[in-house]
Amino acid sequence: MNQLVRPKIGASACPHDCPSTCALEVEIIDGRTIGRVRGAEENAYTAGVICAKVARYAERVHHPDRLLHPLRRVGAKGSGEFAPISWDDALDLVAEQFLRAEQKHGSEAVWPYYYAGTMGFVQRDGINRLRHAKKYSGFFSTICVNPAWTGFIAGTGKLAGADPREMAKSDLVMIWGTNAVNTQVNVMTHATRARKERGAKIVVVDIYMNSTMQQADLAVLIRPGTDGALACAVMHCLFRDGKADWDYLERYTDAPRELEEHVRTRDPAWASQITGCPAATIEEFARLVGERKRAYFRLGYGFSRSRNGAINMHAASCIPAVTGAWRLEGGGAFHNNGDIFHFDKSLIEGSDVRDPSIRMLDQSRIGAILTGDKEALQGRGPVDALLIQNTNPVSVAPDQEVVKRGFARDDLFVCVHEQFMTDTAKVADVVLPATMFVEHNDMYQAGGSQYILLGPKLIEPPGECRSNHEVNCALAQRLGAKHPGFAMTERDLIDGTLQKSGWGTLAELEANRWIDCQPDFATAHYLNGFAYADGKFRFKPDWPKVPFGRWHRNVPSRPIPSLPDHWDVIEEADAEHPFRLATSPARGFLNSTFTETPTSLSREQRPTVMINPDDAATLGISDGEMVTLGNRRGEVRLHAKLFDGVRRGVLIAESLWPNSAYADGRGINTLTGADSIAPFGGAAFHDNKVWLKTLAN
Ligand code: SF4
Repeated sequence: MNQLVRPKIGASACPHDCPSTCALEVEIIDGRTIGRVRGAEENAYTAGVICAKVARYAERVHHPDRLLHPLRRVGAKGSGEFAPISWDDALDLVAEQFLRAEQKHGSEAVWPYYYAGTMGFVQRDGINRLRHAKKYSGFFSTICVNPAWTGFIAGTGKLAGADPREMAKSDLVMIWGTNAVNTQVNVMTHATRARKERGAKIVVVDIYMNSTMQQADLAVLIRPGTDGALACAVMHCLFRDGKADWDYLERYTDAPRELEEHVRTRDPAWASQITGCPAATIEEFARLVGERKRAYFRLGYGFSRSRNGAINMHAASCIPAVTGAWRLEGGGAFHNNGDIFHFDKSLIEGSDVRDPSIRMLDQSRIGAILTGDKEALQGRGPVDALLIQNTNPVSVAPDQEVVKRGFARDDLFVCVHEQFMTDTAKVADVVLPATMFVEHNDMYQAGGSQYILLGPKLIEPPGECRSNHEVNCALAQRLGAKHPGFAMTERDLIDGTLQKSGWGTLAELEANRWIDCQPDFATAHYLNGFAYADGKFRFKPDWPKVPFGRWHRNVPSRPIPSLPDHWDVIEEADAEHPFRLATSPARGFLNSTFTETPTSLSREQRPTVMINPDDAATLGISDGEMVTLGNRRGEVRLHAKLFDGVRRGVLIAESLWPNSAYADGRGINTLTGADSIAPFGGAAFHDNKVWLKTLAN
């Protein structure tokens, strides 16, 4: 008789750069094969729900195009001609080239370059141990969080907020500047629960009628980069209509009377001119916030990817401080929980051997750095060698033509450790095959919730794939880099880091699957005071001194407004560039990951740009037609998608497709700028002025 054999289930965590960091349950078919991936029901934030792309993760793990063996370039740079090489020979070659670069221009000539392709501490951050031990150039990670985190911390004093699970207990959930349906589905789980169980309203603020906006009770559609104006007008209405909680304001905030006076002139009519949103919609938004005090502001990253992004984030975060929503369960604001975890990562990162005199190079300015821009190199020597893990800068970094020029340098040696032949791997000298999350051990800290999770090795890797930790240790041995972390296993590093940080042991984490680090209610809601010395929320932050605990050197060229406002430093459309372009995230992709899986590809189909039908009619563009977008940085060809959910004058290119998916091999980041966002760096991916033409023009 046939018996149904249920596959073994392995507990894990999603490794991707998504705030949810879902707790996963992975079907293990055999020692080398996984099946379906599901969300853990018992995890209170994941609540059994994960996105479709990770549910079908077997498509990635068992993809026929995975890199399985080390490769050495044999043709011209970028020709894509590679030949197999043994691991030993590959590592010897990389070490030899790094030592040569070091001898020629000093240790800073080598730049370990990484990012969030995995969010695991061991496999993402271990490259820093090699960097510190060898005094290689430092990596100032700006591409994602800096404007958003700075803007949030400017008000509260630290990166933490009301428990995200409290969304389910709100009467009003604001989802601001994050397309949660596409990028962090769990926000929708908790928000829609509040709607179902409590009759809560969901307000969504965004720049096009994306999947999340379509689920809103009130969709607030604004022009890109105008969130500060919207926030000011909402606060204007709250003060005007007697909805400000003056007891709270006097006790918990720094300059409420100045703010009230400041927003007196910033009424909905004023904001409507800037945002393009009807004044009546802004009034309705303010009415809901004023009447439903249990209001939760879930503030995302999207609206911070603008030259005024930090200021916009701060402005939005000021609203619950005006109403005193922080007092109530289900009220307040949340962006990220980074400051609740207090990790000591010295074993993993080797921060104990860091030399502070070594320069930090701005991740977002990799193009300028590789092409020898003196300011980007901080007046010091060139970068002659790169070790790249967990990122794909030839596709994802801004100002792509300059990035490509940099990678084309004959005197630049590039080693890429990757899972697939990405745009960056294609221009490497040595390509090393990397493991995926189910094939190595790691530990994760959530951003959008409050968990520490374990992601143990569940299956053997295919071919000759090795983990980042294995590669970093093997290189350290060849390069003479010394640190105790190089002699530890992945599991030792996890155990040691947990113990050093006061979070117990690996054995305990393994037994419990995750640690719920949520602070108590009063702490999470800042009822004992905000995280500044005087305990006050800052409507008037001292921007250069915002306690954003990262290395930074960016000084704004124009003074930042002292109170929340519309800071007019965005790339406004002009006669030559009549459109504003944002490169918002596609549902099937996660940055440049998942662009190889059949399900994601069949969903996303091809690179497109959404155009308002009236704009398209004016330019004689029909749906599906190939068009060209351009600005002073370059040109991109892709297909038009007529959609009345984008405003006139706004273009949305959901991304991030590989460069090779575009007609000329020029990806969407050809159009984005690498100038640094105030006050502490970042890339303005949604803040681009462009022209739009048909191919006939
Ligand atoms: S929603 Fe985000 S964290 Fe959850 S499985 Fe999908 S990508 Fe991973």
